[in-house]
Amino acid sequence: MLLIHPPVVKPCEPPAGIAKLCGTLDHHGVKYSVWDANLEGLLSLLKDPPASLDTWTSRALRHLSGHLDSLKSLDVYRNEDRYRRAIKDLNRLLEMKARSNSVRLSLANYEHEALSPARSRDLFRTAENPEDNPFYPYFKKRLTELLRNEPPSLIGFSLNYLNQALCTFAMIGFLRREWPGIRLILGGGLVTSWMRKPHWQNPFEGLVDHLVAGPGEVPLLLLMGVREAGDIPDTPRYDSFPLKDYFAPGPILPYSASSGCYWNRCSFCPERAEGNPYLAVSVEKVISDLLSLADRHQPILIHFLDNAISPSLMKAISEHPPGVPWYGFARITRHLTDQDFCLALKRSGCVMLKLGLESGDQAVLDDLQKGIDLEEASSALKSLKNAGIATYVYLLFGTPVEALTEARRTLAFVVKHHDRIGFLNLAIFNMPIYGAEAHQMETKQFYEGDLSLYTSFNHPKGWSRPLIRQFLDKEFKRHPAIAPIVRRDPPVFTSNHAPFFVRDGRHVPHKLPLWFT
Ligand code: SF4
Repeated sequence: MLLIHPPVVKPCEPPAGIAKLCGTLDHHGVKYSVWDANLEGLLSLLKDPPASLDTWTSRALRHLSGHLDSLKSLDVYRNEDRYRRAIKDLNRLLEMKARSNSVRLSLANYEHEALSPARSRDLFRTAENPEDNPFYPYFKKRLTELLRNEPPSLIGFSLNYLNQALCTFAMIGFLRREWPGIRLILGGGLVTSWMRKPHWQNPFEGLVDHLVAGPGEVPLLLLMGVREAGDIPDTPRYDSFPLKDYFAPGPILPYSASSGCYWNRCSFCPERAEGNPYLAVSVEKVISDLLSLADRHQPILIHFLDNAISPSLMKAISEHPPGVPWYGFARITRHLTDQDFCLALKRSGCVMLKLGLESGDQAVLDDLQKGIDLEEASSALKSLKNAGIATYVYLLFGTPVEALTEARRTLAFVVKHHDRIGFLNLAIFNMPIYGAEAHQMETKQFYEGDLSLYTSFNHPKGWSRPLIRQFLDKEFKRHPAIAPIVRRDPPVFTSNHAPFFVRDGRHVPHKLPLWFT
């Protein structure tokens, strides 16, 4: 079996979903290989000069190897200008390379001028014309090499983001044409969301043999002839990935201690709308996994992928630190208001917490059922700051109960706490197409595609997307207390690289690496 991680995803860490499948396949003795087509594909495009070379592109090309090396060294993360220049130059090379294919390409983005990843007919068109894809020369060569001697009986694609969809179907089209006998299986987060839509009908029959919603372990084992799946281990395996080649100053290991969300109440949440159950790995197992993964791969950072790391897991990590810095999403709960709790987190290696605050207006938070009290949020930001843990705060504008007045309260909250907020993510609300709220609103198709996951709606208070954008650009981001936080966000890699920009070595025990001091 061959498992493929298709472009385009930020190339800074190995794909967690495939790593988890590898753990299961190893456990059951199933032979497999993996291909990070995202990392390899992006590197191949970067190294192949674009046809037209203007001054900027020529300079970017001259500095290419220097930029790639620099992103693997901590030095560049201490020099923001150099970091920004490297990212801008790499994006320039990709942009120029893909322009003739009518694709806007960057290290994190793949957008076709005419084809939408949310329209099945466009995905079919892509599959019929794989040579139109900018990655085609590379994946043709590489797949031919990989399949030449011993073609696998099954090839699986892990499709998690819209930015991967068109490239995935280009590869599927090529495989169908050249190796019609190989069974193709498509799974991952995006496919799961598609398949959980009400009235889902598979539009890919005849092109893809199997579609999988949710965890792929059992379906893959069954397809490989393992009838008794029995115990499915949760420990991911990263041995087959080129850990040294990712765009990071050392291996970043993604790890999921749970799927779904233990809170599962926020009204706008796609997890909840999809009905994904909360499944947590036992705390003991997480601790032993982290210790063994840290020992095996010597990572520079552990990235928790949980929608929200539970307070009990945070406590356990504090008591049994993995010896490696770590970060992830946490809910704002009373635990984080406790200075001692935060100090223990910091000593365990917690370098940054991502916090979904969403709004600085209590009525909006209550309506969204976030379970956040603004007094508590204020106190949590203070305790985290005092402990030396950076915060990456997520805000959501344009929810049905918010209008300009409430958005200005969010602005006021951020201004008041600006010195306790490390980074900000500003998003505009998308209404999940199958959420309960969508039925109460006047809606219309958002991406105008049969695979759309979101719907646009007439905001009940007239707080439309253009007005929100205007508020964010002209008022929110320009506020003198907020502008420096917005500017601090690492371009393209955002929260994935933010921990390397955190400068606070307080409360760090000596056995932890001091790269963030
Ligand atoms: S905390 Fe996050 S994942 Fe959990 S229900 Fe709320 S929005 Fe969804």
